[in-house]
Amino acid sequence: MSVRVLVTGGAGFLGSHLCDALLAESHSVVCVDNLLTGRSSNIEHLRNETRFEFQQADITQPFDFGAVEYVFHLASPASPVDYTNYSIETLKVGSLGTFNALEVAKKYRVRFFFSSTSECYGDPLEHPQKATYWGNVNPIGLRSMYDESKRFSEATVMAYHRTHKVDTRIVRIFNTYGPRMQLNDGRVVPNFMKQALRGDDLTIYGDGRQTRSFCYVADEIEGFLRLAKSDEHLPVNIGNPNEFTMLECAEIVLRVTGSKSRLRFEPLPPDDPKQRRPDITKAHTLLGWEPKVSLEEGLKLSLDYFRSAVEATA
Ligand code: NAD
Ligand code: UDP
Repeated sequence: MSVRVLVTGGAGFLGSHLCDALLAESHSVVCVDNLLTGRSSNIEHLRNETRFEFQQADITQPFDFGAVEYVFHLASPASPVDYTNYSIETLKVGSLGTFNALEVAKKYRVRFFFSSTSECYGDPLEHPQKATYWGNVNPIGLRSMYDESKRFSEATVMAYHRTHKVDTRIVRIFNTYGPRMQLNDGRVVPNFMKQALRGDDLTIYGDGRQTRSFCYVADEIEGFLRLAKSDEHLPVNIGNPNEFTMLECAEIVLRVTGSKSRLRFEPLPPDDPKQRRPDITKAHTLLGWEPKVSLEEGLKLSLDYFRSAVEATA
């Protein structure tokens, strides 16, 4: 059955891939975005798609673009560089924006999907992280505007679920990468790919032994869709459990790009989590989901995009 779906943050990296996936399932999509960290080029290919509608709007203000059958709420700066530059905007979209998006779901009595984050776990003391872990977050640290906005949003989603009986879903997303990431958002994959393709030094923060687990965007979006169709309203981790140090990640980027770049060590930003890996047992059991694309394969699939993006800035 095809329905009209609303996607906040739909012109961003993940949002635009979600719009593509929903359109591919024959739905109509209303994409709402203020282009704070997203780009119209991410949805340019949908310009002539009759089932796609773009509304440029700031969701920290109440909004209503007509009846919809599902609300996907993804709007929020997501990279450490972006949420540092836009700290107040991040707190507002993760509070006022979440209320406004939930009000739409409440008004039309439809399901609501919230994109939360592994940052809810902070610098985790439990490893790997299960969705039942409450986290180890610095409430006033340099990541707090993002981490706490997401934790606040999760609490708001649960309050609407319990009080107003809104049918809600919460995904905790772990580091996801792929085509359409902004080249300059400061995240490790675009940084390393850009540096490798330009022949610049790869910047390793700290000693490079901190870990992350990287999920290719197509796997992540498949996980979103399965969770969206499930009945689970408690948080579910969607991410790739293969864990890499940043040194290992740099090595793979050099291999995939064939670059001769060297490594340059720079100071570790404060509050940078030392390790991160999802326990995806719940997603596997509940949704039959697991990621299929390895980091090396995913970087190969992303290479053309990063090469064109680097050439466009040359
Ligand atoms: P992104 O910056 O590419 O996309 C976010 C989008 O939200 C942008 O298009 C931006 O313009 C829009 N936006 C921000 N504030 C808005 C506002 N007030 N009104 C309307 N639109 C607004 O980031 P992304 O990587 O695609 O992340 C999407 C979502 O997934 C975010 O909620 C993020 O917290 C979450 N997430 C992403 C990752 C990841 O690895 N990419 C990891 C964890 C969580
Ligand atoms: N990082 C790095 N070099 C860079 C950018 C990031 O070593 O040029 C490190 C960063 O310190 C962190 C990891 O890579 O430990 C992942 O950073 P990213 O910003 O991609 O995501 P997050 O820290 O939010 O997981």
